[in-house]
Amino acid sequence: MQKQSSFGQNGGKLYLVPTPIGNLEDITIRAKKILQAADYIACEDTRTSGVMLKAIGVHNKLLSFHKYNSEARAPELVKMMQAGAVIAEISDAGMPVISDPGFILVQACIQAQIPVVPLPGPSAFATAVIASGFDAQPMTYYGFLPRKASEQAAFFEKMNSFEGTSIFYEAPHRLRKTIGNMAKAFAPDRQICLARELTKVHEEFLRGSMSEMVAHFQTNEPRGEYVVLVSPAPKQEKAISWDDLVSQIDQLVAAGQSKKDAIKAVAKQAGISKNQLYDRYHEGQA
Ligand code: SAM
Repeated sequence: MQKQSSFGQNGGKLYLVPTPIGNLEDITIRAKKILQAADYIACEDTRTSGVMLKAIGVHNKLLSFHKYNSEARAPELVKMMQAGAVIAEISDAGMPVISDPGFILVQACIQAQIPVVPLPGPSAFATAVIASGFDAQPMTYYGFLPRKASEQAAFFEKMNSFEGTSIFYEAPHRLRKTIGNMAKAFAPDRQICLARELTKVHEEFLRGSMSEMVAHFQTNEPRGEYVVLVSPAPKQEKAISWDDLVSQIDQLVAAGQSKKDAIKAVAKQAGISKNQLYDRYHEGQA
């Protein structure tokens, strides 16, 4: 077991410092102090962060630390901290480690018994969920989903039956396609929220059903940064009547659908896992 005290210890340490996701006023007083007092600031892009730091009045030495050099860079930074350096790690925006670099460095510090001190602050997914209108307990944050439709489908399958809020990030140029893929997995009345350009002048929330989202993006081009939130699956108030579901599948099969398509359609409508329904259906056939 390892015990870390974050305060009252001199010597090298790593601060994880969140930075604004748009509105520069969201930098905290403590974050600014740490960024100014650290020996170095490790950042993804020294130019991008340089502009932001100048705007908030922080002038300090910057080191490059991004997803392509983090494996090689982490041991170097650890050595510097072992020699007594205090390093503040930031990402381009929001929380380091949350869909951004930092995890490898945190692991390396823990391994080397260097204190890792996290600061609270802005993160897009947490900012989005509190205004989404969906319950934040429980919630699952997925980061960015894979790009391939077939790989996304496995995630949507999990979200479809999850009785909590599901959250992920998507780039604007992929959003339309992803919304189309979501419509294949979720019932048309499943509630979706898109949180766009959080904390910026064009901040906007789109709240509506799956089918309304599809219709919206037929005529509107996605622009800016988005967080996508899927409402919790309806609570199974009464025990699922597997017999009912099986007979619905049988009816669809009798009407000419393949067994696979029928199971998929019934699972989607009931907000349950298609694999679970597949197993139950075939158990009943055994
Ligand atoms: N570390 C960041 C955090 O804590 O949220 C996430 C960085 S990730 C590389 C960038 C993605 O976060 C964007 O593509 C977008 O999906 C989401 N994002 C970041 N800023 C946002 C904002 N202001 N409004 C909506 N989404 C945002």
